[in-house]
Amino acid sequence: MGSAGTADKRGRAAGHVLRLAWVALLVTILSCFAVAHADTLLGATGYKMAGDAAKMRIVVNFDREPDIKWFLLRGPYRLVVDLPRTRFALDAKDVKPRGLVRAVRYGDQGHGSRLILTGKGPFAVDKLDVLKNDDGSGYRIAIDMSAASEREFDEALANQALTTGSTVSGGKGERVGTGPISAPGHRFTVVIDPGHGGVDGGAESSAGTVEKDVTLAFAKELRDKLAAVGKYDVYMTRDNDVYLALDERVRIARQHEADLLISIHADTIAVKGLRGATVYTLSDKASDPEAQALADRENLSDQFAGMKIEDDNKEVTDILIDLIRRETHSFSMSFAHTLVGQLSTSVGLINNPQRSAGFRVLKAPDVPSVLVELGYLSNVKDEAQLLSADWRGKAAQSITNAVALFAAAKAGTATGG
Ligand SMILES: [Zn+2]
Repeated sequence: MGSAGTADKRGRAAGHVLRLAWVALLVTILSCFAVAHADTLLGATGYKMAGDAAKMRIVVNFDREPDIKWFLLRGPYRLVVDLPRTRFALDAKDVKPRGLVRAVRYGDQGHGSRLILTGKGPFAVDKLDVLKNDDGSGYRIAIDMSAASEREFDEALANQALTTGSTVSGGKGERVGTGPISAPGHRFTVVIDPGHGGVDGGAESSAGTVEKDVTLAFAKELRDKLAAVGKYDVYMTRDNDVYLALDERVRIARQHEADLLISIHADTIAVKGLRGATVYTLSDKASDPEAQALADRENLSDQFAGMKIEDDNKEVTDILIDLIRRETHSFSMSFAHTLVGQLSTSVGLINNPQRSAGFRVLKAPDVPSVLVELGYLSNVKDEAQLLSADWRGKAAQSITNAVALFAAAKAGTATGG
């Protein structure tokens, strides 16, 4: 009995060991599967986004080369990137939406994973590349997107339907630099941008005249004069006293496929005797120290939005310089030249009235843009003129004449005549 009992005990113990071994083996096998499975998942290891409401660059890092497909969806405007099953290890603060991107979503779809970027409005995918990281740390998807018109978004959507989705090349590369926009039924479009607004009053005279009011009153006059010609579509970036960030103004111009952006300002300057109008275009190097100082002051407007731009500044500046397309620039220069000529017949100009500096509001890559400083609020005579409806009418008429000359010249270029 006793021995039988011992044998039974031994047998049970042996069976227990065997079971344990099986369990251990099973656990090992399962964990091997789990490891192997995790290894087959693509790893999204980082996400970076820089830019603003007019233009964004998005970079997503992966531990190895991702096999992707991308396409656009409407309602709301979305860019969808289809990925193999992916383990996302992204920092919540990196994917926080901003600028042109209203929402960033990503996740598993069962058979694959997906990254979805929702635009603040219609946009164009200028570029979408899968690139090998130079430091050997894997691969990245680099996406350049910029604000565009609804028509442009729909066109890209239609194109992708024709090419059955996947890696449709961004149509924008062809769009930029094709000269006059040739959308059917497109009328010459002017976007007038009254500087400042809302909490951002702009410059102020010693008598209390505020720049944002002067620019709005003038812009309305100019809008009416241009509309009266009957040949143009005319829009304003704002038509009441609201704050608008600089890149929002650029975005509005692009969404209307503007042929011209005219930003209206009336600054102050320490030299009280200095007066007269100035026309500015964009350049990465200012024409003179005063132009640089003015651009710095005007660019401060974005501070009112409470935007944290300092972190991105370097990258944004790179994008900005990248954006100064030669053709748009030459159109801007040509309009500025025409404008100075027309203004000289009706209003006073400062010495060297055609200048340039890095104004953020002039950075649309495909909208010829100028900034007009109508006069100086620091000069009492200029201030009196800016407040005079008569003077405003004269100055607005000169700008309207300049627009007519520019539009005619551009139409001539388009037809090759
Ligand atoms: Zn201003």
